[in-house]
Amino acid sequence: MVTSREPLAPSRPFEVDQDLSSPNRNLTPLTTRLDGEGRLSLGDCTLSDLARRYGTPLYVLDETTLRATCRAYREALARHYPGEALAIYASKANSSLAITALVAAEGLGLDAVSAGELLTAFQGGMAGERIVLHGNNKSREELALAVAHGVTVVADNWRDLELLAELAPSFPGPARLMLRFTPGIECHTHEYIRTGHLDSKFGFDPDQLEAVLRHLTTCPWARLTGLHAHIGSQIFELQPHRDLAAVLADALALARSLGHPVEDLNVGGGLGIRYVASDDPPSIDAWVRTVAEAVVEACRERGLVLPRLLCEPGRSLVATAGVTLYEVGSRKPIPGLRTYLSVDGGMSDNPRPITYQSQYTALLADRPMAEPNETVTVAGKHCESGDVLLKDLALPPATAGDVLVVFATGAYNASMGSNYNRIPRPATVLVAEGSAELVQRREQPEDLLRYDVLPSRLRYLG
Ligand code: PLP
Repeated sequence: MVTSREPLAPSRPFEVDQDLSSPNRNLTPLTTRLDGEGRLSLGDCTLSDLARRYGTPLYVLDETTLRATCRAYREALARHYPGEALAIYASKANSSLAITALVAAEGLGLDAVSAGELLTAFQGGMAGERIVLHGNNKSREELALAVAHGVTVVADNWRDLELLAELAPSFPGPARLMLRFTPGIECHTHEYIRTGHLDSKFGFDPDQLEAVLRHLTTCPWARLTGLHAHIGSQIFELQPHRDLAAVLADALALARSLGHPVEDLNVGGGLGIRYVASDDPPSIDAWVRTVAEAVVEACRERGLVLPRLLCEPGRSLVATAGVTLYEVGSRKPIPGLRTYLSVDGGMSDNPRPITYQSQYTALLADRPMAEPNETVTVAGKHCESGDVLLKDLALPPATAGDVLVVFATGAYNASMGSNYNRIPRPATVLVAEGSAELVQRREQPEDLLRYDVLPSRLRYLG
């Protein structure tokens, strides 16, 4: 399993950005190497060995890359923001006990949006005071669970406030609240992952902000500690984040003028990552610097004491750390049209291509440097024509049994996965320094039947 540390040759078949200070800009995990036999390895574990040992499809997470991105956020905030700051991992990107534990150990906080994500955070070792609860339709139970653990609730709408007021008699003290509002900022990303424009289901409309802030002055059960806005995801532009700082600073001035002790300004997440060689996102450092400078300037212009700066990266923290391994199966050449190469997973383990037309980069695990002289379309195994993972991918001729590595699958793959066609979810292994550890077991077909109930009158005995 332990492999040589020869760096991946940077020229073929795609450019590998080796700038270690900006891990979100690398297409491959930081520990991607060729082993002594020219096979791809991650964390000094040969990928095709992992496929054999754990089966496919398999999610592989590189601990070095994950820790490096956490540190990149932490250090950039310390470098560029003169006040207190905290990066909060948006766990919707990939929620598990192991990731929670790593992120907590790196000193980050965590954002959750459901009881399931909250429980994962608690059991993964994240302190309640470092967690925020989001959601545009939180249940009474989710709100009660959050407050009982000292989690800060991000109030998204009047319903949140009504439910919290009902629950308030059981609170040990005032609940920590943030207010989320839509900032009215447009940015260029897929319509489904854009949240900052006014026509969004998330957050209070900005026209209502003053009314909400005034209402909260009459709620002794609440302590308004922060303001939040998020403009979307997979964003490469920096200007919308600058604009957001000004909008948030106006809201901060208003909230403080009404007597709220607001300490936290939460700018959300959204920094994009490189999925294909042509993607050119800003580095974590450049993003943090832009946000930090814009917040400092907006506060100075308004004469505001600097708030604690919070940001909520999801994708840019975990995407590049993850790859998915598939085994190649059937091949269907359609003369003059295309050649389909099918793999043993697809839209159930990675719904992003069918949902957002997302693009990815892939290599053969054991022949990464071979001439890519065939163009194929990599299809999943689900009963859906649109179940295509990579279109028009240049690959060396691949045959059944080859292992395909798809890069940058650490975010919004496992967490958005499904059991479509009753296909069990893949396992996840964490690799570091030549060892691989299972951190999520592979689901078994029998697991999928666990919650089915067959009423006796429907039993067909014929
Ligand atoms: N914060 C909030 C409120 C979100 O809705 C999201 C996801 O869209 C994030 C943070 C994380 O965004 P990203 O994964 O783009 O960093």
